[in-house]
Amino acid sequence: MSEPVIIGVDLGATNIEAAAVRGGDILASKKKKTRAREGVDVVIERIGTTVRKVMDKMDADAADFEALCIGAPGAVDIESGVVQSAPNLNWTNVALGDLLEEELGMPILVDNDVNVGVLGEHVYGAGKGALDMVGIFVGTGIGGGLVLNGTPHYGWRGVAGEVGHVVVKPNGRQCGCGRYGCVEAYASKTAMEAIIREEMEKGRSTQVFDIMEEKGKAKLTSSVIEASLEAGDLLMEEAIQNAQYYLGLLTANLVNVLDPEVVVFGGGVVERLGQDFIDPIGQTARQHYLQREGAEKIRLVPAALGDDAGPVGAAVIARRRLQSAI
Ligand SMILES: [Zn+2]
Repeated sequence: MSEPVIIGVDLGATNIEAAAVRGGDILASKKKKTRAREGVDVVIERIGTTVRKVMDKMDADAADFEALCIGAPGAVDIESGVVQSAPNLNWTNVALGDLLEEELGMPILVDNDVNVGVLGEHVYGAGKGALDMVGIFVGTGIGGGLVLNGTPHYGWRGVAGEVGHVVVKPNGRQCGCGRYGCVEAYASKTAMEAIIREEMEKGRSTQVFDIMEEKGKAKLTSSVIEASLEAGDLLMEEAIQNAQYYLGLLTANLVNVLDPEVVVFGGGVVERLGQDFIDPIGQTARQHYLQREGAEKIRLVPAALGDDAGPVGAAVIARRRLQSAI
C-alpha cells in the first residue's frame, strides 16, 4: 500500500498555504492571502478555496485524501480542534476543526503552526535523523518548538516551546507579552527596528529607514535587513549583533536544559542571512554551555524546508494521529 496523501495547511496571519503531501513530498500546492481582518467566516472560506484549488490541480476530491491537518498561529486544543486564542488573527475560541469539516467534508486535525513547522524540519528537513531537536524561528516575533524523543513536546497545558519569552535580561526591554527582558524584545525584527529607531532619536545616523522607504516597506523586513547590512549600516550591524548575542544565550539555556542534537534556526531573517547569521549565535552559546564535552557535535543549522515545513509537518502530524487512533 502506498503512503496516504494528506492535505497539509499552514495558516499564517498573512498567508494560507495548502499542499497535497505524500511522505515528505509536495504533490501540489496553493497559496492565498489570509485576510484575517475580514473575520473568521472569510478566513474559513478562503482556506476552503485554497484547499479546493489544490484538489483541482490533482484532479481529485475530498474522498481521495486521508485527512487534512492545519497549523494555526496560536494556542490550540488539539483534541477538540479549537483555536483558543490567536492574537495575530484576532481569534478567540474558534472551532476551526468543526468549521473546516463543514466546509470541506473531510476529517480535520488542528495543531499549532510552529509545532507543525518544527516537526516538518525534524522529520524531513534540517533536523532529519535527530531524536531531540529545538526550533527557533526569528521573525516579527520569536517562535519555537521542541521535539523530544521524536515527538513534539506540548506540555500539559499545551503551551510549551515558547522560546521567545525566555528572559535573557532581567528588567530589560519590555516585550510584546508585557513582561521584561524576553529574548523576543531584543532579537525579533520588531525589536531590532525599535532599537534602531531609539538610537536614531538619540542622534545617530542610519540608512535603515531610507532603505525601508525605497523598498516601499512599512516595517523592518528581512530584505530591508539584508540591504542595510550590504550598505554597511552601523546601527543595523549592531542590532543584528545584539540579537545574535541574546539568541546565543537562549540557545545555551535550551541546550543546558534539553541537550538536543540539533538546534534549527528558521524564519525570514535566517532564510536571508543563512549560516552567517547563526555562527555568531553559536560562538556566544558555546561560552555558556555547562557540559562542554561533545558540545562541538551539537548542530546549529538553518531550516531547510522554507515555507514547505508547515504543510509537510502537518501531514506528519496527521499520519501519526491517524495511526494512533486505529
Ligand atoms: Zn515576552
